[in-house]
Order: sequence, then C-alpha cells, then structure tokens
Amino acid sequence: MAPRVDPVASDETLPARTGVVIIGGGIIGTCTAFFLAKKGVPVVLCEKGHIAGEQSSRNWGWVRQMGRDPRELPLAIEALRLWGGMNEAVQGETGFRRCGIIFLCKTQDDLAKRAAWLEAAQPYQLDTRLLTRAEAGEKLPGLTGEWAGALYTASDGRGEPQMAAPAIALAARRLGANVFTQCAVRGLETQGGRVAGVVTEKGRIACDSVVLAGGAWSRLFCGNLGLRLPQLKVLSSVMRTEPLAGGPEAAASGVGFGFRKRLDGGYNVGGWSANVLDLTMDMFRQLGDFLPAARVNWRSVRLRVGQKFIEDWQIPRSWSLDQATPFERVRTLDPEPHQPILDGARKAIGETFPAFRDMRIAERWGGMIDVTPDIVPVISGVDTLPGFFIATGFSGHGFGIGPGAGRLMADMVTGDAPVVDPTTFRLSRFTDGSRPQPLPAI
Ligand SMILES: Cc1cc2nc3c(=O)[nH]c(=O)nc-3n(C[C@H](O)[C@H](O)[C@H](O)COP(=O)(O)OP(=O)(O)OC[C@H]3O[C@@H](n4cnc5c(N)ncnc54)[C@H](O)[C@@H]3O)c2cc1C
Repeated sequence: MAPRVDPVASDETLPARTGVVIIGGGIIGTCTAFFLAKKGVPVVLCEKGHIAGEQSSRNWGWVRQMGRDPRELPLAIEALRLWGGMNEAVQGETGFRRCGIIFLCKTQDDLAKRAAWLEAAQPYQLDTRLLTRAEAGEKLPGLTGEWAGALYTASDGRGEPQMAAPAIALAARRLGANVFTQCAVRGLETQGGRVAGVVTEKGRIACDSVVLAGGAWSRLFCGNLGLRLPQLKVLSSVMRTEPLAGGPEAAASGVGFGFRKRLDGGYNVGGWSANVLDLTMDMFRQLGDFLPAARVNWRSVRLRVGQKFIEDWQIPRSWSLDQATPFERVRTLDPEPHQPILDGARKAIGETFPAFRDMRIAERWGGMIDVTPDIVPVISGVDTLPGFFIATGFSGHGFGIGPGAGRLMADMVTGDAPVVDPTTFRLSRFTDGSRPQPLPAI
C-alpha cells in the first residue's frame, strides 16, 4: 500500500531550454531544485511518477546527526541547521520538529559501541551524550524493562516525509522552477563531450547541466550512459499507527523496533536494522564492491531468494531514447512490506512501551533503499561527462541529510564555494583505487 503524499500538480508545457534539469522528485531532487532556484538558476525538475512517491514519503522521518559516519557528519550538521529554518524558508509545513533521538542499548556491549561513536564524533562537538537507564526513562515516559543505557542527541529531530518534499517542490516552483510529474527522463544528449540536454517522454529540453537524483533508479540510468555506479536496492518496511495517547515525543530505537511520532498524533514504526535484500543478477555483478558492507552489516539484512531474481533479470539495461524506457513502465516503486519484520516490531515495541500495546495499525508499506558500498552517498560531478552531476545512494539516511545534500549539489552545479568539502562524496572513489569502506555498524 502506498502512503498518501501531499499532491503537487504538474506544470504543463515543457520549456525548450533551461539551465539545469533535475531527474527525480524525491527529497534530494526537490531540495536541489529549491537551492538552485534560490540562486536564480533556471531549473526544471522531472519526476517519472509523483513528487516523493518513492523513498522520500516512505521513510521513518528521522532527522539525525547521531550515529552518522563521521565522513558525512559535516553535511548532516548543515542539514539539521537547514531543517531548523525549513518551514519558514519554504513557507510551508515540512513537519520538522526538534524532538531528540535516543538509541536504547540493551547490553553493556551495545553501549560501548555507541560510546565509541561518541568518541569518533567528538571533534564535531555535538550535544550527543550517554544516558543512564533512569535518564532514558525520563526522556521516554512509559519505558519498561532492563536497559544498559542509551545514546541521546537533543538537537536531532523528525520531519513528515509525506509533506516535506512536496512543500519544498512548491517552494522551488514559487521561486521560478518548473516541476513536471509523470515525466520520465529517458537519457541525456551531449555535444562536444558535455551535457547539452535531456530527452524526456514528453520531449527534449536543452540545458547546461543535469542532476541525477533518481534514488534506487540511478544505477540503471547511469548504466545506459556507460557509467558504473555501484548501488544495491534493499527493502525496508514501515507501519503507521492511528493517533495514540501517552507515547513518547522523542524518536527512539530499541531491540527490534524504531519509532517516530507523527504530526497527526500517530507513529511510524519499523524494525530497527531489519531489511531485506533480494538475490538478483545485479547483486552478483557488484559482489566485489559490496563485500566490505556485507561483512559489517550482515546482521541487519535478510537475504531472500525468489521472484525478484527473474523480475530484475527482465529489466532492460540499455535502450534508445526514442522508445519507452523502464522508468515509464514502473511509475512508482511500491514493494510489498515484509510482514514478519513488522509483526516482530509490533511485538517488541508493545513489550517495551505499554502505550503501544493496543495500537491500531492504519497502514503498512515498503520502500526500496538505495545503498552504496561504503554507505555514504554520491554527491558529485562526473569527470568523464562535464555538466552531469549525481546525488544518490543515500543509504537509508537521505531524508535527514536532504536539505544539506541539495544545498551542496546546488553549490557544485553553480561552481560556488561548497557548503562542506565534497571530496568524501566523489563518484570516482569507486574507481580511483581508494576502496572506500563502510563504518563498522554501531
Ligand atoms: C522504510 C524506509 C525508512 C527510512 N528511514 C529514514 C529515516 O528515518 N531518516 C532518513 O534520513 N532516511 C530514511 N530513509 C532513507 C530516505 O528515505 C532516502 O535516503 C531518501 O528519501 C532518498 O531520497 P532521494 O530523493 O534520493 O530518492 P527517492 O525519494 O527514491 O526519489 C527518487 C525519485 O526519482 C524518480 N526517478 C528515478 N528515475 C527517474 C527518471 N529516469 N526520470 C524521472 N524520475 C525518475 C523516482 O520516481 C523517485 O521519485 C528511509 C528509507 C526507507 C525506504
């Protein structure tokens, strides 16, 4: 079941020319459009389905610095700063509230891992701190059971995924951006070795630059250009409760569950670190790239063998631009949620918080998370194709980091001083011999 998303109507007439075309209307594409439009750059955003139809409306809505890979902490910190002023900046409701986030730790070993992260994050002077069991109980009223302690960041927060990207897209439009939905981009046109335009299902647009913010589709899009972008798709599942009294304001995770309060008084609940990876040929093609991530994250991923192998096999990997492409065949990725993971989360949260014991589940949905080999996004120009930029691979935390990533991408496209050093995010790290590794799971 697809979650309901605030609607954004499509503009009607495709312009013949613009400055920048953005492919994808998730949180990353809409934030990039917003920050480019704010700089006065002519922008056209093309979304094959509806705004925020995929990951960006399906996530939990956590906006956090805590637990981030230190390589991306400067961007996460900038994103949190931007979220703080986002409602005002977009003159709309993104749902952002600074509620604090808590990682509950069952064992001393868990707590030691969290404390090690705190040590690594120390140069960034966050307000993160360890809590005792009693302190965690004060922040999370109704908490039951034995806990070794918790890691807590008061300045982290939550947003409303079903409202945020639409509000940001509308703000970008008010600043002059065009927003087209049901408008898949089939591929690029080049001239003299650099980007000259895009071909969409509704026609051509000449432009100086293109930003690919295509989420789980980005690898396929790049493949047709002859560019190798290592990226896997992992299924994550969520349920939404009806409004519920007596639950915590802070967002938190514990053993087998995570939750976040919604503006409507309900909660988004999922299984903490519980994702499904379908066995596909594309997985085998990228085995070497993902072995380090598999070693670090194997506990949090369930491998599934089934129909997806055939379905993935049947997706064309190359096409010409005068034909319908895979992007037109699947307007919105709407995978079935993994019911056993959600049933497990329901039980675990009910055992920990009495307020959740009789919760009524209004919806369950799935979303495909796009993951890179080092669990760090690609926010980068493409050396071999001037004018082409990629912002993808947010590896399960792009909602929170979205405004920072959009701002950074806008700086990179315009050649302005980047808001944070983008070196970590370069695409070439996968080919220049760096062999980037993921951070050990905390
Ligand atoms: C269940 C779940 C829970 C999560 N929880 C959190 C969380 O709590 N906090 C957090 O920070 N992150 C979380 N994430 C991750 C977060 O949702 C993503 O990292 C983020 O939304 C990625 O945004 P995006 O814009 O890159 O991708 P998407 O939102 O997937 O958007 C990409 C868009 O590109 C479009 N597109 C693709 N190809 C084309 C094309 N050729 N032409 C036109 N359009 C195209 C697609 O239709 C899609 O709408 C979660 C994700 C899931 C699934």
